[in-house]
Amino acid sequence: MGRIAVIGAGVIGLSVAYELAGAGHDVTVLADRDHTGAVSSVAAAIWFPHAVDAAPRVLESARLTRDRLASLAADARTGVRLRTGTVLTRRPDPDLSWTAAVPGHRPATAAELPPGAAGVTCELPVAVTNVYLAWLRASVLGRGVEIRAVALGTPDEAGEGFDAVVVAAGIRSGALLGGDDQVFPIRGQIVRLANPGLTRWLLDDDNPDGLTYVVPRDDDVVCGGTGDAGSWDETADPDVERAILRRVTALVPELAGAPIVSRAVGLRPARTSVRLERVDGYAVPVIAAYGHGGSGFTLSWGEAARVRELIDAL
Ligand SMILES: Cc1cc2nc3c(=O)[nH]c(=O)nc-3n(C[C@H](O)[C@H](O)[C@H](O)COP(=O)(O)OP(=O)(O)OC[C@H]3O[C@@H](n4cnc5c(N)ncnc54)[C@H](O)[C@@H]3O)c2cc1C
Repeated sequence: MGRIAVIGAGVIGLSVAYELAGAGHDVTVLADRDHTGAVSSVAAAIWFPHAVDAAPRVLESARLTRDRLASLAADARTGVRLRTGTVLTRRPDPDLSWTAAVPGHRPATAAELPPGAAGVTCELPVAVTNVYLAWLRASVLGRGVEIRAVALGTPDEAGEGFDAVVVAAGIRSGALLGGDDQVFPIRGQIVRLANPGLTRWLLDDDNPDGLTYVVPRDDDVVCGGTGDAGSWDETADPDVERAILRRVTALVPELAGAPIVSRAVGLRPARTSVRLERVDGYAVPVIAAYGHGGSGFTLSWGEAARVRELIDAL
């Protein structure tokens, strides 16, 4: 049992804090933005590996996370729902490695598909992002974790008295560790529409007109998207929004005319490969936990379990 600082209060930092506190560690979360200001709050937050390297360890992390989210869905207060929908595939050789983690998946029927696409229909966990993150934060506090609002320049600035520091700072993790040229943003723009009564989601990564997804939550529907690798622009582009609305209404006509509730842009914290390892050279051992791209929710519990293993091995 040790005193652990976790830098970051997004889905990765909070999941890590939950796991470490559950294992008996004394955990403090340090973050300059709470979950409502983190990239995590922008996510559609459906379980699906997207814009992340598909290494076997990462897929195992996704499998573990799917199972954990599926059990959290039994309690509506968590904000996690199990919902049916279709992953469209438009290439001759689609990567279906993710289906190994999803019980009950089946080929989509013609009625579930737009012309020219194939697909897989299955039940996946969807988190109502802000409900889930608020639940996670409250659960972490309930486990005795302290959350402090503070901006750090290096892990050593976490202060005296910690036995280890976990860096779960999303897109800014590389800068915290003195620079990491493998980290890059993948800009994602979304628009949230009032939910006309949809429950089925639709993922269409290879839509010829651009990345397209429709993820109904409780009251709204997250409509996306974009995947602009290398762009740091966090302002919503009205032309891009109009194009997103055209694409989603072409696939889901029930969305036509649904009022816009809100819009957002987030920078997915991408990396050539997820970084989850011990880093030496600081006052205390540092565990890097970042680079989850478009899959932070999809990998969160698996990554938290791996961080716990690395901490326990110190
Ligand atoms: C449009 C969009 C849609 C997405 N959809 C999905 C999806 O459907 N499913 C999915 O799995 N993923 C999705 N993602 C990806 C997901 O949002 C990210 O992978 C995830 O949020 C990353 O979480 P994180 O905790 O690493 O980072 P963040 O949420 O960015 O949190 C970083 C935390 O670190 C803190 N921090 C950073 N630097 C410092 C510092 N120097 N000092 C102190 N604190 C610091 C911040 O304040 C913040 O609290 C989507 C992303 C976008 C943009």
